[in-house]
Order: sequence, then structure tokens, then C-alpha cells
Amino acid sequence: MEQQRKTEDLLKQRLKEKGLKVTHQRILVLTVLEQNSGMHMTAEDIYELVSQDYPDIGLATVYRTLQLLWDMQLVDRINLDDGCVRYEIGHLLRGDAQHNHHHLICRKCNKVIPFTDDLLDDLEHHIEEVTGFHVLDHELKFYGFCRDCMEKEN
Ligand SMILES: [Zn+2]
Ligand SMILES: [Zn+2]
Ligand SMILES: [Zn+2]
Repeated sequence: MEQQRKTEDLLKQRLKEKGLKVTHQRILVLTVLEQNSGMHMTAEDIYELVSQDYPDIGLATVYRTLQLLWDMQLVDRINLDDGCVRYEIGHLLRGDAQHNHHHLICRKCNKVIPFTDDLLDDLEHHIEEVTGFHVLDHELKFYGFCRDCMEKEN
């Protein structure tokens, strides 16, 4: 509950900075993502959940809201190769790390598993040293077979 408060406060603060209104829809979309932390949801999945509380919301509004939340760095997204973008609560709000977690993608069941150890500090420093490029974030995907699928196989 306290976390939810924090999330709402940060959203309100960011919206204010951008001169945008705090709307019920914006809060709801972010809250749904927070309540489903660890899940990687399409805009349609999010729409389904939000419309349970707020039947008047349209899918287009959910899309626009997600884009806005992404611009404000409050949500993270990953592009899976099925053409669907998945969203999740932003790493700044999860409080787990400075950067987005890595994603383990099962080639059999298509499960997406978050892996929170960044372990890229050396590489990030090296990149900055060699190129002067400052890394803000990264999106790393590993493909393979999850534990469940491996067990079924054996
Ligand atoms: Zn990193
Ligand atoms: Zn699997
Ligand atoms: Zn993720």
C-alpha cells in the first residue's frame, strides 16, 4: 500500500513537471502495472484489467497513456519478436536497480522471466571510457528453455 502511494506521488510529480493533468485513467494504468509487478503485459492485457474498474476507458487511451508513462520513465517495455510490445512497472518504481532487469525468454512456452542482477557495471564503464557514451539503460534478452520446460523434457 505504501509503495502504491509512492508510485502515485511520483506520477503526480512527473505530470506536474510536464504541465499535464493528473487523471483517473493515468493513475489506474500505472496502478495495474504496479499490482502486476513481474508480469509483462500487452496494452490489451492492461486494458482488460483497467476496464474492470473503469469500463469507460478505451484501448486507444490505454495506448496513449502507456506511451506517456514510458516517456516519463515510469514504465519499462520490451519488444518481443512476436510483434507485441510488453509493458511493466518501471525499474525506478520497482526500486530494484538503476537499470532495467534482463529478460529470459523461453523458446518453448514463451514465458518471460525477469533477472534482476544487472552485472553489466564493468561493461557500462568500459563503454563510457572507450567511447564517451554514457549508458542510461539497456534491454537484454536471453533466449533458451525455462526450468519447467527443461524438466518436462527429461
Ligand atoms: Zn546496467
Ligand atoms: Zn518454458
Ligand atoms: Zn521485465
